[in-house]
Amino acid sequence: MSSLQPVRGTRDVLPEEARRVRRVIETGRNVAERYGYEEMATPILEFTEVFSRTLGDTSDIVTKEMYTFRDKSGDSLTLRPEGTAGVARALISGGLSGQLPFKCFYAGPMFRHERPQKGRLRQFHQIGVELLGVEEPVGDVEAIALGAAVLDALGVGATLELNTLGNAASRAAYRRRLEEYFGDRREELSEDSRTRLERNPLRILDSKDEGDLAVVAGAPALDDFLDAESRDFFAAVREGLESLGVVYRRNPRLVRGLDYYCHVAFEFTTDALGAQGAVLAGGRYDGLVETMGGPRTPGVGWASGIERLAMLIGESPPRSRPLAVVPVGERAERMGLQVAEELRRAGYRVDLGYRGRMKQRMKRANRLGARAAVIIGEDEMERQAATVRDLDSGAQEAVPFSDLDTFLARYR
Ligand code: ATP
Ligand code: MG
Repeated sequence: MSSLQPVRGTRDVLPEEARRVRRVIETGRNVAERYGYEEMATPILEFTEVFSRTLGDTSDIVTKEMYTFRDKSGDSLTLRPEGTAGVARALISGGLSGQLPFKCFYAGPMFRHERPQKGRLRQFHQIGVELLGVEEPVGDVEAIALGAAVLDALGVGATLELNTLGNAASRAAYRRRLEEYFGDRREELSEDSRTRLERNPLRILDSKDEGDLAVVAGAPALDDFLDAESRDFFAAVREGLESLGVVYRRNPRLVRGLDYYCHVAFEFTTDALGAQGAVLAGGRYDGLVETMGGPRTPGVGWASGIERLAMLIGESPPRSRPLAVVPVGERAERMGLQVAEELRRAGYRVDLGYRGRMKQRMKRANRLGARAAVIIGEDEMERQAATVRDLDSGAQEAVPFSDLDTFLARYR
């Protein structure tokens, strides 16, 4: 153990952030439900093949970012770097292929061995949706509209960038042309991109290297290689978005990082996060389930970084302010514990002052933002009535122990 630090690229989520994280997840889940997407979960551990076969052996994820290890029985396992492959695996192994279209929402941790920086972690978290079994462009439109609705519900302003990668034939033609173009400019490319040139030149378009960007700027556009089917599909998606009033910007350079995408690719970006501006990204992945050995099943979906969303939304106050039970003196301590327990059983959120003088306990109550204090001292024990102090107005009232539940209802 190298001192008591969290592992590089991982972090603790303290209560204030945890509240924002919870709001992100709950909002995603609720909005997704409105669109008919039900929550599901897949394991964090999968056989390595689930990712290596589907994400493509040229993707950044597979070539350098996966947390892969052998477990005690010798199997090669990987901590999931993304959610789609697991859902596709579940569709096949769970025999859900008979129930298409299948629509799901998920939330959970993902792991990628990247260089940690602001907004880029090694354990990060995503919410995401998948729509499987719909090959029509209406599926893309619905998934994108759902993404926009989630961001909207969170109050996150982001620009939707949209592109098409075309169908397999168009991509193959484009790829050949890119091979020529980048091949002629090999010397100007980064080492990573020279490797990409051999394996999958499309990926160079996705490079973040400054030098590469200059070369990419002059690269031929995919549009010139789109066949009629690809163009029609893209036009239908754009029309659908327009009819729903979902505003987008065409970005012909947008390619998704993973091999399995085709047709529509999209990304919601913001300037508010510095370099890591992508908050929600996805696209269509018609070949994925088949690549995995399942029946041909078209799919479209997206994932969004929870940490990035949580940074963009304002503070989330606790859902309700607590009550503080403040016993003072030996006899009152036990009564305080009982009163606190009764109120909790009745559904109140209650903080119990454990120790110290009245003043210190009241200070804690104020720090917690308590709505009212239920003070129990010697006098109160004599009278069998607590002193309830409204911490906003300062008003006090004696309330018999037996009436506390009814009286405090005003502070719920
Ligand atoms: P990037 O180009 O930023 O590396 P990506 O293409 O690898 O993104 P996706 O796999 O599409 O990202 O993941 C979807 C979303 O998940 C991203 O838009 C981002 O919000 C979030 N995300 C991806 N990787 C990380 C990470 N390492 N740390 C935090 N959030 C991440
Ligand atoms: Mg990445």
